[in-house]
Amino acid sequence: MSKKPKIRVRFAPSPTGLLHIGAARTTLFNYLFAKKNKGSFILRIEDTDRKRSKKKFEDDIMNSLEWLGLQWDEKYNQSQRIKIYQKYLKKLLDSGQAYKKEIIWFKNPNKKVVFNDLIRGKIEFDSVEFGDFSLAKSLKEPLYNFAAVIDDYEMKISHVVRGEDHISNTPKQILIYKALGLPVPKFAHLPLILGSDKSKLSKRHGAVSMEEYQKQGYLSEAMINFMVLLGWSPQSGISPQRGGNPKHEDIFSLKQLIKNFSLEKIQKHGAVFNINKLDWFNSYYIKKMPIGELTKLCLPYLPKSNFSKSKLEKIIKLEQERIKKIPEIGDMVEFFFKEPKYKPNLLKWRDMKKKEIKESLNKLEKILSKSKIGDAERRLLKTEDRGKLLWPLRVALTGREKSPPPFEIAEILGKKEVLKRIKKAIQLLK
Ligand code: GLU
Repeated sequence: MSKKPKIRVRFAPSPTGLLHIGAARTTLFNYLFAKKNKGSFILRIEDTDRKRSKKKFEDDIMNSLEWLGLQWDEKYNQSQRIKIYQKYLKKLLDSGQAYKKEIIWFKNPNKKVVFNDLIRGKIEFDSVEFGDFSLAKSLKEPLYNFAAVIDDYEMKISHVVRGEDHISNTPKQILIYKALGLPVPKFAHLPLILGSDKSKLSKRHGAVSMEEYQKQGYLSEAMINFMVLLGWSPQSGISPQRGGNPKHEDIFSLKQLIKNFSLEKIQKHGAVFNINKLDWFNSYYIKKMPIGELTKLCLPYLPKSNFSKSKLEKIIKLEQERIKKIPEIGDMVEFFFKEPKYKPNLLKWRDMKKKEIKESLNKLEKILSKSKIGDAERRLLKTEDRGKLLWPLRVALTGREKSPPPFEIAEILGKKEVLKRIKKAIQLLK
């Protein structure tokens, strides 16, 4: 029995900018395909353009992939492989399949090129349409189409999985393989990611780089889950583009994706980017996160304090259901760290008179000073008009119209601080 050839795929970014969400999704699909098939995932930095390639972008690409948890098995830089390309360039020049006229050109044999795209099916090109094309600026400066072919061969890449924008390069690359007598890998071209206006996703639609999403407070788990549904769906035939919020069957960890992923379930048509879905996934994963871990993530955004770890965790726990993005937390919980400032008018619930607000606050003060917060809550909420008490209490404690339940806040603030804030509210009304 012949052994199945090993699956080897690559992500081949040019380090000329920050890692774009389209490229990150290409990486994700390559990674999943490799891991699902117990293959290898290779990171190839295509940095032969020395002017445009920057180390800082290579670092950004690696940092972003690590953040996403997409660890590569092997890494190469094209800039360190110039000799390898030279060898093949010479072959093509010697055999007359390439020629020099300033730069080095491939002599187009002008024939039909047909390949079976794993996502799109049979694709046909007539190479007459693109004429002779460039391979290298010189023996030491290979260009993309040529270097990619040599590396895909040398690195034993079994499947080239990349964005649809590269389809027109594929016939050129196939002609180069054929000219050198090399085996042609399988191809799968992924659908583009589109903005809400159905044009190709770009900066004018908002954040597009992984670094920006990370800075804005998106979790890598949310990013992965969101990105995988941009063009792939767990069940073939069901469009991941359906409207509304994601459903239970759309929730996937990286581990579960490795199990479930397959190239066959990738759609042909463009995948529309919907930021609301990303936000939904983000709050979903925030809600599920163990409180210790979430508190750690929130720490850089919290005001400085000498609060104990357990107090900080209680504060975060109280807001866990409401956090959409981590950096919001600083503002959400500010009132725990310093006395709130607000206009006296905010203490008024519906058409309460000033006198009534004062009565409510006095009552709160009186009962709270004599009993435990929990007992006071039970007592005050049983008999009274809840709104008339809760509203002024909420505002006195937080300075806000919206917050978690005021008695839960009071428990964390502690009785002394609570009474201080109620007194202050009473003062404000004078
Ligand atoms: N360096 C190319 C790019 O960044 C790679 C394309 C490919 O995957 O072949 O678009």
